[in-house]
Amino acid sequence: METIQTYNENVLNTYKRYPVVFNKGKGVWLFDKNGDKYLDMCAGIAVSGLGHSHPAIVKAIRKQAGKLIHTSNLYYNEVNGELAAKLTAVTGYSKVFFCNSGAEANEAAIKLARKFGKLTLGEKKHKIITMSNSFHGRTIATITATGQPKYQKDFTPLLGGFVYAEYNNIEAIEKLVDSETAAIIVEPVQGEGGVHPADFEFIKKLRELCDKYNALLIFDEIQTGVGRTGTMFCYEQYAPVKPDLFTSAKAIAGGLPMGVLFVSEKLKDILQPGDHASTFGGNLVCSAAAIAVLDTIQKDKILSNVVKSSKYIFEKLNSMKKEFPVIKDVRGLGLLIGMETDIPAPELVNELLTKKIVTVPAGANVVRFIPPLIIKTKEIDFMLSGLREILVKRK
Ligand code: PLP
Repeated sequence: METIQTYNENVLNTYKRYPVVFNKGKGVWLFDKNGDKYLDMCAGIAVSGLGHSHPAIVKAIRKQAGKLIHTSNLYYNEVNGELAAKLTAVTGYSKVFFCNSGAEANEAAIKLARKFGKLTLGEKKHKIITMSNSFHGRTIATITATGQPKYQKDFTPLLGGFVYAEYNNIEAIEKLVDSETAAIIVEPVQGEGGVHPADFEFIKKLRELCDKYNALLIFDEIQTGVGRTGTMFCYEQYAPVKPDLFTSAKAIAGGLPMGVLFVSEKLKDILQPGDHASTFGGNLVCSAAAIAVLDTIQKDKILSNVVKSSKYIFEKLNSMKKEFPVIKDVRGLGLLIGMETDIPAPELVNELLTKKIVTVPAGANVVRFIPPLIIKTKEIDFMLSGLREILVKRK
């Protein structure tokens, strides 16, 4: 209890934390102060894609920390350059910008879109269309982009120039888009908003509208990126449609803070020296960890495990849905899975925690299963049996 009290006395009260103090992790398991073992079906909210203390990540961090931790983006360094080259090679996008978080990557995307608008049509082309129920971060620009009034209400006035349309409803977008639209921003799967994948047709039409009005299509892949949905980035599943720019963060550096903006060829020269910056962006230790993440995903065939484990979880949860009417829906992509029930999500998350299963809510009635991408059948079975015990009691 000592640690919890220390937090309560010293840390701003911005989180409703669950009453557990973790101090060790290995693979898909977390351990609390008493040595009790928990199955991590949350992965630090889609961050620890390769699980905890992955030897390749630990080795890369140790090696780089002993050599050089930080210089500045005023100078070059080998490790960040190597990472940038790997990221452009793996995606086919032309250039990247490094920062430290998802919100910052989205800020960079918004700034780039605004400058693109100005260069194209002048001051007027600044409108950004975003989706209701979306989530793009907690800075003022990104809560403005986040189409959920609950995150915005106490922080007005918001940033100007944003308009909101219903997700997966192309008519709603058609009503808003025009030549003054600089960009449309969308999550290929809405994560925080309740785990809703975007329809293929919706994304295809967004692309057509962006092409028609010379607006940029931005994908927020903060949560869906780095293997989470079974491909390296989720946009690959909407081929041949591609965003003009997309953002990634969370899992990209294996648990160290890093955000990345990827831009296509036509956008590679929009931002110029002085337009944007980040002191820590692309930090050497984070870059070394990110290289280890990318190499391990390829070497250990992590994406095929995501596809296999996803299929297994969906099959099992869908059959439980037939057995337990309290389960209303099971949806998602890859290992970004939402289970909607009649039970308030925080309550079910707490009950799962008593069964030593760590999950996270996504909206009022949806529990998210976003485990490390290395999860195996036996571990999934542990989660399913804990969940079953809870549901049987409630039947
Ligand atoms: N965008 C999406 C889709 C997210 O899920 C999140 C975080 O959950 C963010 C942006 C914000 O990322 P960060 O918390 O790293 O700023």
